[in-house]
Amino acid sequence: MITMSQKEARILIVDDNVSNLALLNNMLGRIGYKDLRQTTDSRQVVGLVAEFKPDLIILDLMMPHLDGFEVMQQLESVIPADTYLPILVLTADIAAPTKRKALAAGATDFLHKPFDASEIFMRIRNLLQSRFLHLAAQNQNQLLEQKVAERTTELSTALEQLKETQRVMLQQERLRAFGEMAGGVVHDFNNALMSVIGYSELILNDPTVLDDKPTVLDYLKTMNTAGRDAAHVVGRLREFYRPREETDVFESVSLNQLIEQVASLTQPKWKDQALADGRTIALELDLEKVPTIAGNPAELREVFTNLIFNAVDAMPSGGTITLRTYRSADKVSFEVIDTGVGMTEEVRTRCLEPFFSTKGNRGTGLGLSMTFGVIKRHEGELEIESEPGRGTTFRINFPSQVKIFEAAEAEAVIAQRPLRILVVDDETVSRDVVHKYLVADGHEVVLATGGEEGLERFQAENFDLVVTDHAMPGVNGRKWPDRSSRPARRNRS
Ligand code: ADP
Ligand code: MG
Repeated sequence: MITMSQKEARILIVDDNVSNLALLNNMLGRIGYKDLRQTTDSRQVVGLVAEFKPDLIILDLMMPHLDGFEVMQQLESVIPADTYLPILVLTADIAAPTKRKALAAGATDFLHKPFDASEIFMRIRNLLQSRFLHLAAQNQNQLLEQKVAERTTELSTALEQLKETQRVMLQQERLRAFGEMAGGVVHDFNNALMSVIGYSELILNDPTVLDDKPTVLDYLKTMNTAGRDAAHVVGRLREFYRPREETDVFESVSLNQLIEQVASLTQPKWKDQALADGRTIALELDLEKVPTIAGNPAELREVFTNLIFNAVDAMPSGGTITLRTYRSADKVSFEVIDTGVGMTEEVRTRCLEPFFSTKGNRGTGLGLSMTFGVIKRHEGELEIESEPGRGTTFRINFPSQVKIFEAAEAEAVIAQRPLRILVVDDETVSRDVVHKYLVADGHEVVLATGGEEGLERFQAENFDLVVTDHAMPGVNGRKWPDRSSRPARRNRS
């Protein structure tokens, strides 16, 4: 008649009337319910609920000590809100207000006295069914929650691993580009050294040349240029590999200057290496005078390098790369245009995805995703136009920085007046060189031969500018006080 789980249900009967209790006990027993518990003392209900854990409570309303309403009130505070424990209220009073009051207090259903066996059976069966469905749903929920928690842990571990892999791959991509460039730097650096060594040996081998002033000056000029070029090459390489810091602040960047730098920095790839492979690639600059942009030069250099490398890769039988800048409304645009193989629609839509590459082992597929990240950080937009067989244009639109540009120009004009400058350097030669340059520009120069002396003079006198060496014994350039009331201090490195 009733299912297994229904028979196993625990039912608690509460009634102060012993003969009622006996009657109910008897009726339920006959229907098949075995696990019954009863009490005539309503004060015991809360304790019994905790101990017996009933699936259903049959509760009389009119009782001494605590009436049915008060019992329900007590139960409300001990039964968790998400637990469905049906309460079947026994009442002889079928008046609507009593029913409403009982429902409000937490009753689930009613049984009218005198009892009718088939009504009791059906009401109990329905309430227990609801109770068991509720329990099953709760179990399922718990299982699901557990599963979700497990999956979340798995996913966040996977995400961490992916991030780590991406970081390592990016580092590799950077190293690869760095390696390609280092070859070119060695080449350029050697050329510079050859000039310095060659011309100095000319003089050393034949000291009479020293009497010929114009020739010696000529030699010196060439050596000087070569030395400067070499310093430049090394400087650029160092900047390229400068470790990235999250806290890097943006500065005013001259796009054209940066592009010229990158053009020569990448020359080993687009010119020398391409020539060695038997293809000729021309790099053309089409640079309009544009305002500065706010940016991180190292990141932008890396982006431009990547775009040029991709263009070179896309021209297996040579071609032309054009680097173009122009101004439009409040934007500054930069284009890398190649005459290479172009992209299909599918490649064009996927090329920004991390790890997407059509170059097999030669590609990492990270260049463009990194590029896109940097452009986003610069609040720029990236546009890609491409057609198979006709080449590709990558266009970046940066927000322009017109106001700062104008302010910087104004500042440059103000700086034309003679300044009182403190030069701090423990090296005689470089102190002397800086001194001579500044005096030649019409400035008044005070020299200090070390950090301590420099600091004393700085505190005692007024200067418009301090030029200080970084690495010095004792008080070095970094230890200088930061006195914002004082004029700007520039570190010379
Ligand atoms: P990788 O260069 O390592 O393959 P990138 O993220 O730099 O990775 O580029 C992803 C893909 O986009 C390339 O493999 C290539 O298919 C395509 N691509 C990028 N730039 C160009 C371009 N200038 N011309 C044609 N295809 C390009
Ligand atoms: Mg690439």
